[in-house]
Amino acid sequence: MTHREFEGWRSYGRRVAVATKAGNPDWARLPQAKRIMIDEGGKLFFTGKVCKRGHVSPRNEHCDCTQCHLMRLAERRDAV
Ligand SMILES: [Zn+2]
Repeated sequence: MTHREFEGWRSYGRRVAVATKAGNPDWARLPQAKRIMIDEGGKLFFTGKVCKRGHVSPRNEHCDCTQCHLMRLAERRDAV
């Protein structure tokens, strides 16, 4: 992992707490913003904020919640 500018303990602590509560403490190691994800060449980032459907999960390069994304894929598959 490259060295990114540290977001600060308050922000990092909040993301660790949210990720841990969701059962995935590793998410806190993802970049906290899309800009940083792009700088690092990654595919996911984790803000620690819930999506509009209430999921806590990383987001992709379209700022889509990954759980919503999976749900949409499943809906599409079921519709066939
Ligand atoms: Zn979602």
